[in-house]
Amino acid sequence: MLAAKGLQTVADLLYYAPFRYEDRSNVKQIAQLAPGEKAAVLARVASAKLSGFRRKHLGLFEVVFEDEGTGKLLARWFHGERYADSLLPDTRVALFGKIELDKTSGHRLMVQPEVEILSGGDDADETLHSGRIVAVYEAAGKISTRVFRSLLDRILKEVDLPPDPLPPSVFARVQLPPLGLALLETHCPAPGTDMRLLNEFRTPAQTRLIFDEFFWLECGLALKKSKARLAAGISFAVSERVREQIKQMLPFKPTAAQRRVVQEIVDDMKRPHPMNRLLQGDVGSGKTIVAAQAAVLAIENSYQVALLAPTEILAAQHFAYFRRLLEKLGYVVGFLVGSASPHQKLQMKKLVTEGLVHVVVGTHAIIQEDVTFAKLGLAIIDEQHRFGVSQRLDLMKKGSQPDVLVMSATPIPRTLALTLYGDLDISVIDEMPPGRKPIITKHVNDAKVEGVYSFVAQQIAAGRQAYVVYPIVEESETTADIKAAEKMYLHLSEKVFPQTRVGLLHGRLSAGIKEKIMQDFQTGELKILVATTVIEVGVDVPNASVMVIEQAERFGLAQIHQLRGRVGRGAEQSYCVLVTSKLGDVARERIRTLKESNDGFYIAEMDMRLRGPGEFFGTRQSGIPGLRLANIVRDTEILEQARTEALRLIEEKPGDELRAAVTYIQDNWQRRYGLVLVG
Ligand code: ADP
Ligand code: MG
Repeated sequence: MLAAKGLQTVADLLYYAPFRYEDRSNVKQIAQLAPGEKAAVLARVASAKLSGFRRKHLGLFEVVFEDEGTGKLLARWFHGERYADSLLPDTRVALFGKIELDKTSGHRLMVQPEVEILSGGDDADETLHSGRIVAVYEAAGKISTRVFRSLLDRILKEVDLPPDPLPPSVFARVQLPPLGLALLETHCPAPGTDMRLLNEFRTPAQTRLIFDEFFWLECGLALKKSKARLAAGISFAVSERVREQIKQMLPFKPTAAQRRVVQEIVDDMKRPHPMNRLLQGDVGSGKTIVAAQAAVLAIENSYQVALLAPTEILAAQHFAYFRRLLEKLGYVVGFLVGSASPHQKLQMKKLVTEGLVHVVVGTHAIIQEDVTFAKLGLAIIDEQHRFGVSQRLDLMKKGSQPDVLVMSATPIPRTLALTLYGDLDISVIDEMPPGRKPIITKHVNDAKVEGVYSFVAQQIAAGRQAYVVYPIVEESETTADIKAAEKMYLHLSEKVFPQTRVGLLHGRLSAGIKEKIMQDFQTGELKILVATTVIEVGVDVPNASVMVIEQAERFGLAQIHQLRGRVGRGAEQSYCVLVTSKLGDVARERIRTLKESNDGFYIAEMDMRLRGPGEFFGTRQSGIPGLRLANIVRDTEILEQARTEALRLIEEKPGDELRAAVTYIQDNWQRRYGLVLVG
């Protein structure tokens, strides 16, 4: 059970952070309790009664407690069925809560108190769990918060803690308590510690532990990066012909931001070491054309280029876009996706192996084992957050240290990006192509959705096109979900827009059909595209001016912002309509953020704050594994400080200190962070 929580060693336990603290210093006998005060009481169950509907979890659980004859205390839990099985008569417990007076019986009362079951008759042990400030841990299976508290108390008392691992120069600068003390104070706070600071994880002790988690992570990342920088790679040459070809290719004048990032990328590609760069830019900022310029540089140096997209639809879009740009320069662009026929795949793989294809665009099918490149020089990965780091590595193995350019439209704050993509350099496109009108975002209750449809009809009459999106996450599209989308599609195409050509797009369709539908929408044959979130990334149809998002409350903010970025790509005014049912406060706040801002960075930050980083990044892998106390959103300041200190340590290279640090990371943090520094 402990192993399932990643708790394998004593060190893991020491970093098993409490998630909250309670002030239980005020232990009283029942007779001494005054209404209004918060107190801890040790008592015995005299009688217990569950009423209401157990099945519907509406049960009211009422218990009468007694302590050595001083008095009776009532406790009441709503939805209390989970206590009913454990609080049997005679069970001894510790209760913590606020005292009220029960009007009917005149007894003292606690409503929804915290309760811990005491083990056997051993009261000595109880001094650990009440009579002081206690840490509350998340239970792991049968291992309760009390067991964790006892375990940690034992460990902290009996195990000799190693000397403070922080390099002395860093320790002197940060002015935080030594590690041993920090661990002690975090698990067993001293009497009188400020409860507010404790629960906000702001005490010096907690700050020290949070700092450590970030500091060792940042050190590891920086070491890995400095090692990667020294590896041998391709040095691409920028010739007059490269310049000519790029000039020929460009269909418009690049923005200043695009020119700047192209320069950064070209500088990287010229160096005889592998490029590892993240290209960040809000949806519609024009990342693709930047990637195309890097591709020209690689091809003109007789290398091949791979472009990897997270979905087949996006791959097909990129394929079309790259063909438009590159075929006129005489380059061959190929397409390789999982759903192509075995014959087509075989054919394409052969061409790639023989070096007859200059650019191959596709999905993860490209990184499957049996694809060999004649001479892969540049790998471009679009929408990084959908790919794991390991896939990036797989792709790099396909060439002899190819340059890697990762494109992401997830706008996250810089320090965070530097941490999440710690081994990458970062370029940001912070400017939109000229002539864009900000998208107007509206919120409509689903009772009034007919009005939205008539607005869509008006836009179509004026020559525009529209998307209607349903909240289905592509990877989890179930048959029921598809049915729901199909039903809506039939409703819209037959009942609401009988005169208009409507298409349906979802992840379960074959690549051929998907491509056909996208093409028909692109050419304007289809006016309305009903889609699941498969269109979230990359789809580019400038004539589409309306994006209707049904059940918008089910999407994350950043995701809606991405979806919304599918419109507003042409010169016309574009609209995004968020249709929701009745909303709660948080949901209302989220919708308001979207209505008021078109700034992806701001929205991403709000999204992280409202949902927490784990949710925001979707999976554990794409966040930072191994952080226990540290929270990348709450603790950004500590993260910044840790990063500064880590870089300073590595740049100043203070011999012994750095060597000791590397050993310490290898012994203690490598496993937790999945960093590989050795070798
Ligand atoms: P994203 O960064 O979301 O991938 P795209 O590369 O798809 O953005 O670009 C969005 C749209 O803007 C495309 O139609 C592209 O051709 C166009 N575009 C990109 N850069 C410019 C520019 N400098 N001037 C005009 N249009 C541009
Ligand atoms: Mg894109």
